[in-house]
Amino acid sequence: MTALTGRVALITGASSGIGAATARLLAARGAKVALLARRKDRLDELVAQITTAGGTALGLPVDVTDADALGSAVAQVSTAFGPVDLVVNNAGIMLPAPVEELRADQWQHQIDLNITAAMHTIGAVVPQLVAVAGEGRPADLINTSSIAAQNIFPNFAVYSATKAYITHLSRHLRAELGPKDVRVSAVEPGIVGTELQGHVTDPGALAWLAGARETVDWLTPEDVAEVIAFTAGLPRHVNLQQVTVMPTRQA
Ligand code: NDP
Repeated sequence: MTALTGRVALITGASSGIGAATARLLAARGAKVALLARRKDRLDELVAQITTAGGTALGLPVDVTDADALGSAVAQVSTAFGPVDLVVNNAGIMLPAPVEELRADQWQHQIDLNITAAMHTIGAVVPQLVAVAGEGRPADLINTSSIAAQNIFPNFAVYSATKAYITHLSRHLRAELGPKDVRVSAVEPGIVGTELQGHVTDPGALAWLAGARETVDWLTPEDVAEVIAFTAGLPRHVNLQQVTVMPTRQA
């Protein structure tokens, strides 16, 4: 276990699931954590938990699809904690549906959040990451992708494509920012029990999820948080480019 003392972490999608578990773990390992998501009550609760446990946390209720609001939130983090050096770019939504249903609203929602907001997050934090790395300190951009970036699941085409974008983007950005000592990683979890599945309405995808519940011991958000903390805690010259973490029984 590597300490993350002195690190300043910014986590999007921190109000539940993988983001919340990651916030707890990074704070427990010594990082100051800034929590971004829309639900203020959830963020307040998480800040209280982390603070009670001896950590340092700041909750910033923000819709990350609003680029201006996101930029202001990132500025508030650096004012409070100093430059951000560990970004977990994690907010996301999964809305599977057969393409023939023409759910353009759902396509757009996934593209706006999983791709466009992720890009705006990157744009808002990269100058700080480059500056921190230039001072000889670790700097990490960790993007939450998915096994869906690699594998085929029923009616998941648009979601999967957003995650393939994130994995491929991460590889490109690693090549671009690595020479400046900024590490870029894509973490690709298999199925994790979170609120993500609660947004699914498509019967085909629901049937697939129900089957997977019966046959697979799903990952927990804490399992993925361990991978993220491990990635950030490696020596500065070591960059996990792409980490796929699967439930043992998931094909
Ligand atoms: P959750 O639904 O538990 O978490 C999603 C988070 O995103 C919440 O904190 C939510 O907070 C936040 N969010 C959603 N919309 C916005 C918005 N417009 N602005 C700000 N925050 C927003 O799901 P997970 O923890 O599972 O998902 C986290 C990431 O992991 C996602 O990118 C997902 O695609 C990915 N992933 C998940 C897997 C799984 O099986 N669960 C597998 C592989 C990848 P709020 O509603 O408060 O805004």
